[in-house]
Amino acid sequence: MISTAFDTAVGSIPIPLRVLTAVVRRDVVGVLYHCISDELVIHAAGIMPVKTVRQFESDLDSLQRHFNLVSYNEVVAHRQGGKRLPPRAVLLTVDDGFSNAYTVVRPILKRRGVPAIFFVITETLDNRMMADTHRKALCNYRMAVGRRGIEDIMSLFNQQVPESPRDLEGFREWFNMTTGQGRCLDILCAILETDVEAYLSDHRPYMTRDEVRTMSAEGFTMGAHSKTHRELWLLGEGEELDLEISESCGDVCRLTGKSAAPFSFPYQSNRIRRSVLGEVRACHPHVGLMFDTHGFRKDSEFFVGRQCFDNPVGAGPGGSNLCLAMRHAYLAQVFWSLRGRGKIS
Ligand SMILES: [Zn+2]
Repeated sequence: MISTAFDTAVGSIPIPLRVLTAVVRRDVVGVLYHCISDELVIHAAGIMPVKTVRQFESDLDSLQRHFNLVSYNEVVAHRQGGKRLPPRAVLLTVDDGFSNAYTVVRPILKRRGVPAIFFVITETLDNRMMADTHRKALCNYRMAVGRRGIEDIMSLFNQQVPESPRDLEGFREWFNMTTGQGRCLDILCAILETDVEAYLSDHRPYMTRDEVRTMSAEGFTMGAHSKTHRELWLLGEGEELDLEISESCGDVCRLTGKSAAPFSFPYQSNRIRRSVLGEVRACHPHVGLMFDTHGFRKDSEFFVGRQCFDNPVGAGPGGSNLCLAMRHAYLAQVFWSLRGRGKIS
């Protein structure tokens, strides 16, 4: 979010948010969070920043003051040609289906009457498995606090995966990559004596099916964030992609009793052709609107663009960086448009 030279440069351009929202016209934009907590969340360590409850509440204050928070159903009704959305409409979303979405985020939103979509990784429900990216966080934590040094870990890893990088920089780069880590992560977890099954049963990091049912009954929208949280663009554009989307949405529909469920992509989906995703939706009417994470770029009519607001940089201990981050997100769209790359297809 506020991390690159570009971000720093655009942050200094004094264009008010109300001007930007008038120039970059979107019917609705999505605001994305993953994990809100005042405590260390080991399964998020090093893979995503985490805002505190006070910072999240301050973000909500800003959202409620400067934007109009709308529900998924209102967006669907609008996209189907019905009801108009208010100006500066924002849809709040929470990805990954962590249990603290239920215990921390849900009560805050209920108290404020704020609508939201919670996207769950369906195979993690009831803590039956852990997504690779969260296993990676457990390894991150273990590497930071464990007794083994990184050279030692790398050397043990090299013995078991001969093709792996033998220099520290290469090894760190490999580790930070988000792809192709299933077997390698198994090996790394073993080297680091990280017992994923024990973590799942002791910490219960994900929501349960009962919690999904409860939240749906309370009026929140429940959506699918794939079955396994793999990088879907690596699956090609055939059956495997189709199943990750259609079966996860089907699982959520069975739990909630709804006829359709929205879908949010793990990582990003801009390498998957929209025509292919349009066919998936046409074959499976229970697949609702789709959500991505490349900011507010123009997209197909069945997509909602989202910006991630997890990063607390600039927020202070209890403040909000939401308006600043929003300005960055809108200015980025101006930038993309000027470069002729304003629309994803
Ligand atoms: Zn995710």
